Amino acid sequence: MRSSVAAIFLLTTMMSDAACRAGASRSSPPDRPNVLLVTIDTLRADHVGCYGYKAASTPTIDGLASRGIRFETALAHAPLTGPSHASILTGRIPPGHGFRNNSGFTLSPRVKTAAEDFRQTGYRTAAFVSGFPLDRRFGFDRGFETYDDHLPKGNDRRRTPYVERFADATTDAALRWLATSSSTGPPSRWFLWVHYYDPHAPYEPPADLAERYSPAPYDGEIAFVDRQLARLLHALDVRNETGRTVVIVTADHGESLGEHGEGTHGVFVYDATLRVPWVMAGPQIPAGRLSRTVARSIDVLPTLADYAGLARRSDIDGRSLRAAADGQEMSDAPSYAESLYPETELGWSPLYAWRTARFKFIKAPQPELYDLANDASETTNRLNENEAPASDLSRKLDEVIRGTPVPVAAPPVDANTAERLRALGYASGGRAARAPGTALRDPKDGIRFLPRLNRAMSAARTEPALAIRELTAVLGEDPGVFMARRTRAVAYAAAGRHDLAVADLRALDKEGQLTPEDAIVLGDNLRFAGRLEEAALIFERAARENPAFAQPLISLVEVRIQEHRYDEAAALCERVLKLVPDHIEALRRLGDLALLRADSDAAAARYDRILALDAGDVSALTKLGVVRARSGRPDQAIQLFRQAVDREPGNAEALLYLAGALATEGHPADALPYFERAIEAGPPSTMALNGLGLTCLAVGETARAEAAFRKSLRLDPNQPEIATALAQVRRRGAPD
Ligand SMILES: [Zn+2]
Repeated sequence: MRSSVAAIFLLTTMMSDAACRAGASRSSPPDRPNVLLVTIDTLRADHVGCYGYKAASTPTIDGLASRGIRFETALAHAPLTGPSHASILTGRIPPGHGFRNNSGFTLSPRVKTAAEDFRQTGYRTAAFVSGFPLDRRFGFDRGFETYDDHLPKGNDRRRTPYVERFADATTDAALRWLATSSSTGPPSRWFLWVHYYDPHAPYEPPADLAERYSPAPYDGEIAFVDRQLARLLHALDVRNETGRTVVIVTADHGESLGEHGEGTHGVFVYDATLRVPWVMAGPQIPAGRLSRTVARSIDVLPTLADYAGLARRSDIDGRSLRAAADGQEMSDAPSYAESLYPETELGWSPLYAWRTARFKFIKAPQPELYDLANDASETTNRLNENEAPASDLSRKLDEVIRGTPVPVAAPPVDANTAERLRALGYASGGRAARAPGTALRDPKDGIRFLPRLNRAMSAARTEPALAIRELTAVLGEDPGVFMARRTRAVAYAAAGRHDLAVADLRALDKEGQLTPEDAIVLGDNLRFAGRLEEAALIFERAARENPAFAQPLISLVEVRIQEHRYDEAAALCERVLKLVPDHIEALRRLGDLALLRADSDAAAARYDRILALDAGDVSALTKLGVVRARSGRPDQAIQLFRQAVDREPGNAEALLYLAGALATEGHPADALPYFERAIEAGPPSTMALNGLGLTCLAVGETARAEAAFRKSLRLDPNQPEIATALAQVRRRGAPD
């Protein structure tokens, strides 16, 4: 009896041991490869060297192709960052994953992502993204242990509406993660996604490439990303990981560059913005192969899963292309594409397309059919000559549009549910209900407005008067162009006409078109107009309706600081940090609030944390310098101010602090040029002028001191001490 009990005990122990081992081996078998997914935003295939572009400087991508496989025709499913990345990461077409436009959507938790699959299999997962459309609020972070979407403000040299991190900074962050990923914890495989944003407009490559590519700066941006990609791949070499890492480089969409009257991307579904590169290399991938099998973004996940030996899922639209990589014939699968952008942003008809290897059909108010084999640039609409293929393609497209279960609530929904869904981001704020039969403008007809819209969008902050004129003209011709209204609000704000900005945004709100980003602009304008209570209400509403969105809380912090409600401001920052660990602006405000209550240690801790995330954050360098100066460490302070000035030579605040620190530490002659530069760079400031005046006195330059004091008193006559100093200078040439 005893022995049989013991035997059973032993057996079950062995079984559970075996199960454990099986589980362990399932979770990270040694032969699985690492997977590196690189998506280069806005990279059209035919501007890459290995795709035949002569002027390209893409040796890294070309090198990857020669040690792996290149798919001649790779297709995205939407010409937009969010929807297209959602397809890459979920293996589903947009109607399947439900993320239909950059604004107004969140990736539904009901749709599984590549990161979740890899993580469940025991992979370490990390992502480094570079553009605002991939901010974690949109749900792309699901499944990633590390999701680095820090887009530091100090990095935005372009001062455009597009917030981006440049490829060198993104690569630095990814390299830091690679370095720590093997030094900490048990060894395991990783899935790493790196997203570069540089080729997205505006095209402003770094100086050497800007010069070399002055007629085609877009190509210069691509060359810059290729250079940074080389650093990333080199790190794998150094770490001996190249041989066990599957690397894929692709893009979310292309760039129209004027084709079909479109400058950038987003409106049309032609190949100019849908054809992307797909280059892949790694263990078990033959070298130097070119495949003519049509590859689609939805095939990325199943292909990577195949190489990594992940369990196959049936709930995706794509297929593994491993057989094609191995040299086998694969039939061409048709590709779906859409853009809802014309509808949601411009009030025009949406576009849908169905593409086979030979033909493309576009569903529009005036439908189109292209024979791609003979007309790759889609210039001749052959709809009337080819009724038969058109009707076949059109029928298949309709089946997809109608038939794909969309992971949002099924209609009909009551008003309350609809409101809740909208609050969760599962329905667009942008698809207004329209009376059936209402004809929408064909984007082919509306595209003529685009140059004016684009001009106005890029001028909205820098030349607001021009932007307001252009946008008012567009709205005169087509009052339904929502984007013109929201851009005009930005231009009004830049022109300091906050009440007019508020009026435009209130009008959008009335039409149900206020996006979360619009809400921020509306709140900010109310704040600038001094309407703090109204601003707080808007930010609170936006925070309620978009619980994953940190920005309304950050904006609300500004209101509370203006109202001197510092404890509430700090509590809001802590809420943001719960939502987004290491949120740079939340850390910054907490540092500033600590500085305000003279808590040097707390302030230093916050600024140190920011600098650990972004060593070049000028504001944090400057503020930490202030903390050091106040804690009696002037040498450290001067060093920090110098770093800030080196990083941003026109930063008035950093210049002034550096000048002040040098003057107080007994280096008045060194301080003088920095006072001058601070005055030149900054808004008129009595502090800078007085500092200059007093330092001039210290080195005996009385005439210069007198001039500085005069200017200062013109700015603010109510400075008795400066008035006294000026009187003394005049009377005696110098004060006591
Ligand atoms: Zn994009």
